[in-house]
Amino acid sequence: MIHFNHGVDTSVGRVRQVNEDSHLALPPLYAVADGMGGHGSGDIASRLAVEVLARCAMLRPLLTEAVLSALAEANEVIIGHRDPHHMGTTVTGLAGLETAGGDHLMVFNVGDSRVYRLAGERIEQLTVDHSEVQEMVLAGMLTREQARTHPRRNVVTRALGGGPVLVADHWLLPANGGDRFLICSDGLSGELPDEAIRPLLAQGPAQQAAEALVAAANDAGGHDNITAIVVDIGVGDDAVDEATLPREQLPRESRLAEDAGGDGNGHNAGNGPSAGNGHSAGTGGHG
Ligand code: MN
Repeated sequence: MIHFNHGVDTSVGRVRQVNEDSHLALPPLYAVADGMGGHGSGDIASRLAVEVLARCAMLRPLLTEAVLSALAEANEVIIGHRDPHHMGTTVTGLAGLETAGGDHLMVFNVGDSRVYRLAGERIEQLTVDHSEVQEMVLAGMLTREQARTHPRRNVVTRALGGGPVLVADHWLLPANGGDRFLICSDGLSGELPDEAIRPLLAQGPAQQAAEALVAAANDAGGHDNITAIVVDIGVGDDAVDEATLPREQLPRESRLAEDAGGDGNGHNAGNGPSAGNGHSAGTGGHG
């Protein structure tokens, strides 16, 4: 059993008139969609994508195929609108799957919105952008940091609404209690490098982290719409709630993993001597 706790924030930014980002935070399914297209049709495209995914979020058990089918359906719905301004949308997200082999998380992506994972002190971008600059990074022509500010950074190579055949990337991951995920539009990752995202993402409850990240992207310029969903993962009895704190913020006597010889990367659920004792979120045992 995977438990989710999330926080969400979104902002039009400091330059744009309309927020064309849409988001879904309906556990066990989370998604951010960044719409594009002239004359304000981008917000329609991103909303359509999120509406199709919201129906998918109701399915039990939720399976990989259902999420991929929903993405294909969203693609068809957007193309079916026959919008003269060629609207489209990115979509990326996280889904909790209950499979016969145990509980897993699925990360999916089309376009250049992103999913990051914070595990202990380490931040990692899980999705691979479908963008021109990402192809240049892979070819060794640009560094990641150069790509972030490159003039063609907004050109995506895949999107919902782009054509009848949709190829969505997806990955399956084990659900590790204590891991925190960030799902965001490029209005956040375009303003903030990973080193700036990491400490803000690590700080406080999920809602506080989401708001801090969006505020920082606005402070850095807010050139685009900004959306952030922060999702905390708990497994088994190791439920997460708003009282959960990073371990560094706990009084010393509460730092179970340190004395118990945890795995050293900060998430001790399930693999240390403290596993299975159902230490509650109230003591912050899975910091
Ligand atoms: Mn954007």
